[in-house]
Amino acid sequence: MISDKLKSTGLADAADIQTAWPSQERLEKGPVVIVECFQEIPCNPCETSCPQKAILVGEDINALPRVDHSKCNGCTICVSRCPGLAIFVIDQKYSETASAITMPYEFLPLPQKGDTVEALEREGKTCCQAKVIRVVNTKAQDKTPLVTLAIPKGREKDVRFFKLVP
Ligand code: SF4
Ligand code: SF4
Repeated sequence: MISDKLKSTGLADAADIQTAWPSQERLEKGPVVIVECFQEIPCNPCETSCPQKAILVGEDINALPRVDHSKCNGCTICVSRCPGLAIFVIDQKYSETASAITMPYEFLPLPQKGDTVEALEREGKTCCQAKVIRVVNTKAQDKTPLVTLAIPKGREKDVRFFKLVP
C-alpha cells in the first residue's frame, strides 16, 4: 500500500522507501539493488535482465517487482534496463566515510570520473556534494549511461539524482 504523499505528488515517503530497502545484514555485505518501483504498470525488463533471477514480476506483467536481495550481487545490469529509471545500486562498503550509489543518467554532457557534483534529493533539492567515481556507457546499455557517485554515509536513502557543477 503506497502512501498518500506518493499518490498525490509522485514522491515516495519514508515508509514507501523502506519497502524497497534491503536488510541491514544484506547492506553490510556490499553492493545491492534498490528497486523504487511503486506503480503497477505493464513492465518487466528488471526481471528479464537479471542474471541472478533476483527480481520477479511474474505472470501478471502489471504486478510490482519483488526483489530477493539475497540473490542480488549488485552487478548493475538492471539499472540501465529499467525504462522508469527506478533502480539504483548502493554499496555501503565503499569506504569508511562514503557509500557508492550507481544510477541511470540520460543527460548530456556526461560527467567525468573525478568530477564533484551536487547530489539531489527526490524533490530536486541539493542534498550534499558527491564525487563521480565511475561512468559506464556501453552499447548494451542502449543510451542509458550509469554514473556512480561517492556520497557521505547516511545519505543513501536521500540521494537519487545529481547536477553538474559549472
Ligand atoms: S543488480 Fe544485477 S544481480 Fe542485482 S537485481 Fe540487478 S541485475 Fe540482478
Ligand atoms: S523495469 Fe523498472 S519500471 Fe519496469 S517494472 Fe521493473 S522496476 Fe518497474
